[in-house]
Amino acid sequence: MNTQDKSIRASTPITYWRIAQLLVGIIGLGIFFSLIFIPEIGIHAFWNVLIPVAPALFVVSAGLWRNVCPLASTSLISRHLGFARNKKLKVKQQGKFQLISVILLLLIIPLRHTIFDTNGPATALIIGLLAVIAIVLSFRYDWKSAWCSGLCPIHPVEKLYGRKSLFELPNAHCKSCVSCVSNCPDSTKAINPILKKKKSINEKIGGTIIVGGFPGYIWGWFHVQDYYNNEGWYHLISTYSIPLVAMTTTLVLFLFLKKIISKKNEILLVNLFAMAAVSIYYWYRLPALMGFGIFPTDGMLADLSQTLPIWFPLVLQFSTTIFFSWWMIFNKKEMSSWVIRPPYAKHKKIFS
Ligand code: SF4
Repeated sequence: MNTQDKSIRASTPITYWRIAQLLVGIIGLGIFFSLIFIPEIGIHAFWNVLIPVAPALFVVSAGLWRNVCPLASTSLISRHLGFARNKKLKVKQQGKFQLISVILLLLIIPLRHTIFDTNGPATALIIGLLAVIAIVLSFRYDWKSAWCSGLCPIHPVEKLYGRKSLFELPNAHCKSCVSCVSNCPDSTKAINPILKKKKSINEKIGGTIIVGGFPGYIWGWFHVQDYYNNEGWYHLISTYSIPLVAMTTTLVLFLFLKKIISKKNEILLVNLFAMAAVSIYYWYRLPALMGFGIFPTDGMLADLSQTLPIWFPLVLQFSTTIFFSWWMIFNKKEMSSWVIRPPYAKHKKIFS
């Protein structure tokens, strides 16, 4: 990307971002209320449209999502209006939050099979709960430190996939940087979950689990079916054990490879596992959306299995895998940050 392109994006007036945040917020509210009042539509809109688009968006521009995410915008209202308490989180506390965010992610995803994929109000309830936590935390702690770069269960996935951004966008939330978080994920070039200085042990553990374990976890998740009418509560053991066993397998493989390769190749290993995770996701998710899934009605947006030729999903599977391999491994693209760091505030905190 040339400097002129960057500066054009950097100079995008904040008003446009506020309008975008408002529009995405309205769409988010629409999906939230459809989950409660017209669950069939809400489930399709949330689980079969928004969520399948998200990983690809994180790969090409995590900053775009971070700028307009309705949960982030809602949680930061208190700060924008100037009545947040702006308490600083220590590096150790950040590490704890980031480990908890990985645990939350691993606990919530299997519950999709148990209840969320088939129950709109239950999905609305978990979104509502997360929103309340996000608002309370962002009222207490400085900027994005506690939620967007801390407890948010999507944040580890953003860091795993968002290694190479297509755009370096302006930061649509922070007017000036107060260093609310050490190694800000938004503003640090080529952020990734494990390789950086000044990491707490909890952050290292969370980062290692997400890099090494996520490919297996996703593979395992797709080999469990959706359950209806509360039947899923009787299958909780298999719903959790299949993804977790597969996760352990790829995690062990990752740790082994990390031990035998040279330090300078670690970044390649991280990219390889990140690419594997997102490719496995689309390998199973795209066919399922069109009725070609392992469990045909699970996660289906429209049944095209009688209309499309049988080879069509295979073309999609290979195309997405080739694209992610190129983008995440072979593409020599300059490593940029998700968004441009705003100017530092005068009294920024030095982390301890
Ligand atoms: S840019 Fe600065 S203030 Fe904003 S989230 Fe990053 S570290 Fe915090």
